[in-house]
Formats: sequence, C-alpha cells, structure tokens
Amino acid sequence: MTGQFKPHGHPGPHARDAVFSVPPYVGGESTLKGVNRVIKLSSNEGAFGPPPGAVEAIRAAACSAHRYPDGGSAALREAIGVRFGLDPARIVCGNGSDELITLLIQSYGGSGTELVMSAHGFLIYEIAAKLAGMTVRKATERDLVTDIDAMLAQVTPATRLVFLANPNNPTGTLVPHAEIARLRAGLPEDVLLVLDAAYAEYVERPDYDAGALLVDAGGNVVMTRTFSKMFGLGGARLGWAYAPAPVIDVLNRTRMPFNVSSLAAAAGIASLGEPGWIERCRDHNNRARAALTARLRACGITVHPSETNFILADLGSTTRAAAADAHLRTRGILVRNVAAYALPQCLRITIGTDEECDAVAEALAGFVRDHG
Ligand SMILES: *Cc1c(COP(=O)(O)O)cnc(C)c1O
Repeated sequence: MTGQFKPHGHPGPHARDAVFSVPPYVGGESTLKGVNRVIKLSSNEGAFGPPPGAVEAIRAAACSAHRYPDGGSAALREAIGVRFGLDPARIVCGNGSDELITLLIQSYGGSGTELVMSAHGFLIYEIAAKLAGMTVRKATERDLVTDIDAMLAQVTPATRLVFLANPNNPTGTLVPHAEIARLRAGLPEDVLLVLDAAYAEYVERPDYDAGALLVDAGGNVVMTRTFSKMFGLGGARLGWAYAPAPVIDVLNRTRMPFNVSSLAAAAGIASLGEPGWIERCRDHNNRARAALTARLRACGITVHPSETNFILADLGSTTRAAAADAHLRTRGILVRNVAAYALPQCLRITIGTDEECDAVAEALAGFVRDHG
C-alpha cells in the first residue's frame, strides 16, 4: 500500500507532501491464518486483561451511551490526581496518550522546526513529527540505553521538542532521574521535554521517576501516561498528560471537545480503584519476566535487561530473527518484529500469563534445537 498514492501521481485532490513522508504506523498483529487460539505477545498489553471492575463499569456506562461525555473528564482527572498524588487541574486526558503526543507535536513543532529523539525511540514521535513537517534528529544510544549527552548534541536553534520514552519501547531500558534532570538542565527553556512514561507502573528501580518531579520543577517538561499497558485498557483508548498550566491550556485548545468517551472514562476510574491490581500485575511481571529471560538465555539467546512488561530478544542476525518469528507463528505465537526501530536482529516479546510465557519459551527452545 505504501507509496501507492504518490503526492502528485494521480488526478484529484492532493494532501500535503508531509503526509507521504512516513509509512503508516503498523500495530502488533492479532490474528494468524488457520490458528484459532493465537497467543498475542506483540503489543505489550497487560497480561491479565482489563480489571474486572473496569469491565463492570463499561457495562454500567453503556446504558447512558446516548449522553455526551463530560468534555473536561473532571471525574477521571480527579481519580488520577488522587491515585498519583497530582493536581487534577494540571492533567489533560486523551484518546490514548498517542493523541496527546500528537497534539504536543502539532502545537509546539511544525514546518521548519526539529524534534530530537533517541535512535531506537518510540516510532509515533517520528511519524507525528514528519506529518507536522518537522525534521527528526536521532541520537545514538549506548547499549540500547538513551545517551543524554548524545541527545543534547542533537539540539539546535530549530529544536522545539525532545521526546524520551522512559522506560523506552522497544528497548525496555530506562534512564535514571538524575540523568533526566541533567537532560532538562541542558535544554534551552523554550524547548519542550516530553517524558513518555507508558510503562511507569512496572518500574521498581529506586533511581527512577516517571516525570512528575521535573514537571513540577519548571515550565518546559510534560509527562504522558497511559491506561493501555498495566491497566489493560488499550482497546478503550485512554491516556493522560501532566504538565505546567500553559501546556495544559494548549492541549485543551487543540484536543477534540469529547476526546475521551464516557465508557473509557468510567473504565479508567474503575481500574484505578481496583483493589491490589498494580501489586498483582507488578509481582507477576517481575517473576514472569525473570523466568522467561532466564529460559531464553539458557538456550543461548541474548536478552536485554528490561524494566517493562516486555523483553527484547537479540537473535544475532536479521535472518535468524525472521526464522524465529516464522517458527513462533507456526505455533500460533505472535511477537513483535522491530525492524522499523532499526533492530532487525531482535524480537520484542510481551510478558503474558505464565502459560503464554511457557509457550514462547518452549517454542524458542525448540527453534534453537532445530535451527541452531
Ligand atoms: C504503548 C505505548 C504508548 C501508549 O499509547 P496509547 O495511545 O496510550 O495506547 C505510548 N508510548 C509508548 C512508548 C508505548 O509503548
């Protein structure tokens, strides 16, 4: 499909050239031909599905689905504020954090300006920036960890935004708070630093902060969060941003008036209140991630250390990664090919249930036995 409709290659209306500067985002696959029960470990969705209370809340909200939602998501912002100890007035909710990321890029970037991200950073930043007509500058990483000095070296007078997923997808690595503070201190005050903490709920390292400390410390830092990972609501589309008041104002001007559906808001509030959910998910993730990592390493596969609900397995070459991917597919297992992230030798594997982790570990062990 990509490239089929060149900017001026056909008669009729023409979209802006920038629209064709990036291939469309491809999400993790969810079906396999001829397989009834697919094991989907390709999109980092929570291992346990949506919290039961969230399912119940969506059911209850369905009865008033004819009513427009509260455009300001007041009750949801209040619940987020209570759960994370933040001022609800400095929170904006969105149709997934992707919406808020895109709005920040459209509002603060634009034609002739630049965005800085790391070499293996989250692809949505690049796609949204190029669509907005921006130039993307990528900083080299060190052992798949964002290198703060390399990021700062990419900043020019045209830089408007610096994006950092912390921990990062697809590498799974994080940058400690002190290093993030150093990044911010090195930026001109008119550059917006966006800390995308989609996996914050999984992190246990004491040297980590999801971003609220730096948002509170100054005027040019935003933290984005999502309900799509640990809270199991990827299909409901719900994310939020915590930011200084002027950035909140910009997001409220640019977002759609009813960007968060009443069903998503109800599910979000309920998931925040689900007793023991975060602890249960985190405990399982720690245990299952360690076990899967150990099993893959035992059969000679390099696994990068991860602070998230996925691991990055390095198969050593593009061909071996493709062969392993094909082998997993014959067993009904979908993982993520991360060639688009300049990591064609790697596969990203979501931490699923124990049963799913067993299946992928066994299948990869079989692959190594059969193919070397
Ligand atoms: C999954 C993910 C998101 C979440 O996107 P939503 O639009 O909230 O579903 C954002 N950033 C990163 C790095 C992610 O991996």
